[in-house]
Amino acid sequence: MQHVASEDAAEPLLVTLAGDDCRWCASGTLAREQFKGDDAVVCEDCGTPAARVW
Ligand SMILES: [Zn+2]
Repeated sequence: MQHVASEDAAEPLLVTLAGDDCRWCASGTLAREQFKGDDAVVCEDCGTPAARVW
């Protein structure tokens, strides 16, 4: 029986987006961060939030 840490399971969109290339700049990579107090995926380079949990 596998036990997998699954705290990310509630936020599949963020998990999917994290690590993707930024859509708004050439070299940025999306990383999970807090944005205005909410969980979000934000570009490490240009800081553009790709998604938020409202
Ligand atoms: Zn970017």
